[in-house]
Amino acid sequence: MSRQREMALVSLIDDITAVANATDDLEEAARATLSEVCEVTGWPLGHLGVPAGDGEAFVSAGIWIGPIEDFPVLREIAATTRFTAGTGVIGRVAATGEPVWSRDMTADPLAVRLLRGRDPGVRAVFAFPVIAVDGVVAVLQFFSEQVIPRDEPLLRVMAAIGYQLGRVADRRKVRDTAQAGRDRLQQIVDASVEGFISTDAAGHITEWNSAAAHMFGRAREQVLGRLVHETIMPERYRRADQAGRTRFLTTGQSNVLGRRLELAGARPDGSEFPIEIVVWATREANTWAFHAFVHDITERRRAEQALRQAYETEQQTVTRLKELDTAKDAFIATVSHELRTPLTTLSGYLELLDDTDPVQRRMLEAMTRNAARLQNLVEDLLAANTLTGGELVVDAAAVPVSQAVEGAVRATRAQARSSSHLIEVGIIDAGVQTVTADHDLLVRAISALLSNAVKYSPINTPITVHASPEGGQVAVAVTDHGVGIEAEDLPRVFERFYRTRYAQDNAIQGVGLGLWLVKTIAEAHGGTITATSTPGEGSTFTLTLPA
Ligand code: ADP
Repeated sequence: MSRQREMALVSLIDDITAVANATDDLEEAARATLSEVCEVTGWPLGHLGVPAGDGEAFVSAGIWIGPIEDFPVLREIAATTRFTAGTGVIGRVAATGEPVWSRDMTADPLAVRLLRGRDPGVRAVFAFPVIAVDGVVAVLQFFSEQVIPRDEPLLRVMAAIGYQLGRVADRRKVRDTAQAGRDRLQQIVDASVEGFISTDAAGHITEWNSAAAHMFGRAREQVLGRLVHETIMPERYRRADQAGRTRFLTTGQSNVLGRRLELAGARPDGSEFPIEIVVWATREANTWAFHAFVHDITERRRAEQALRQAYETEQQTVTRLKELDTAKDAFIATVSHELRTPLTTLSGYLELLDDTDPVQRRMLEAMTRNAARLQNLVEDLLAANTLTGGELVVDAAAVPVSQAVEGAVRATRAQARSSSHLIEVGIIDAGVQTVTADHDLLVRAISALLSNAVKYSPINTPITVHASPEGGQVAVAVTDHGVGIEAEDLPRVFERFYRTRYAQDNAIQGVGLGLWLVKTIAEAHGGTITATSTPGEGSTFTLTLPA
């Protein structure tokens, strides 16, 4: 190689390096390279091949250097061919990543197939790849009208140039990726429902998304470049905010960065609202920037306040109710005890009186019955009062179920002497003969159910008590054909002092303690009480106890 040629090639590398460093537009760099190479080599035609849109082959970029219009066959082939791995010089270079030299393309199998006997007007051809990190991104191709043997030094220089141009493509890709990342971030920030604010090191606002604009009542254009503390903070915080920034910049220390703080935000009209803010700092190109997410917590504060108030009111009500409850218990206890003694005396004397006159006897009976009723009421009240304190003492023993049922039926009959109800006692299965229970409490519970059946059903309708085994338990069911209970009342009838509308409207005697007592007794025995009812048809209450 001549000294002069050598110098020309070296300066070619220098030139292309300069071009490659100055641009990140591959096409522009490739164009410059095509011209320079044509000039230095004296080859008349330069051509650029690029990947096809589908990435499966290479095609002409339509970029030619030199008088291509003088070579219509060549132009036609380039414009219409997809250069796949086995097709043409470009296809070979793209597939192998290696330069290709053909001293006479009309005799080269690679090109012959494309020429199909036509004379392209050129002979020698060489091409080299532009190799980026992702592989071959372009092919530069040159044609001469002469037959020229392979020039190894020239090809080596071209390979080097191919790598230089590859850096251009790589730089572009890195830049595009970074830009895409920035765009994505910008979109996220814009769409965020949280306010987002950035400032430079001195605190001048550089970023202000639409949520921030909405929250602070200031448009982006109004705030960009303004000092952040003067824009979003009430007067009293401004100096501290500025000082904090300065402290961080000089000492690297901060009480604020990375922490969730609750502060006040200010609007242009001076009004304030509670905000939650997280600030962090980033360092780019040797300077600090600050960023913050801001959340308007007005609603949260309001809800917290409301909750606190509701809780306090509730606490006051509970305290008041407890006081009332205690007072009521004390009152009931006193009155019941005071009633009990004279009632016992009255009942005792009534039993001793014996009158043979039928009229007087009926009067005596009525007095006895009513005294018994009063005594029952007093006992219920006393029981209710003690039981509320959780003091039910169960004196458990083996109790024959039939005996308890009979006891209850007897007590009810005595009480309901004037009303003629037919109380039927159902067959008691051999398997349910005994339960472990407190005899008196059990009689009392069944009596309460029976006396309700009597109270809430018309005379001359049957009432049945039926006991039967039920999976390791004994169920005692009391059924009447009375007024029944509305569905919405049913779950509440076991509450203490609860009476249905019907009981109140018809002034049926009672205070709403009977079923509550039954439930308490059932639970003290590890059992349950349940009810089913059809209004107008009747009810069944079932007391279930462990056998
Ligand atoms: P009381 O009978 O003293 O009102 P209870 O606790 O015994 O209190 O009963 C609560 C309520 O349940 C009654 O007010 C009554 O309305 C309803 N109730 C209880 N037993 C029956 C029944 N067998 N038929 C219809 N309603 C009933």
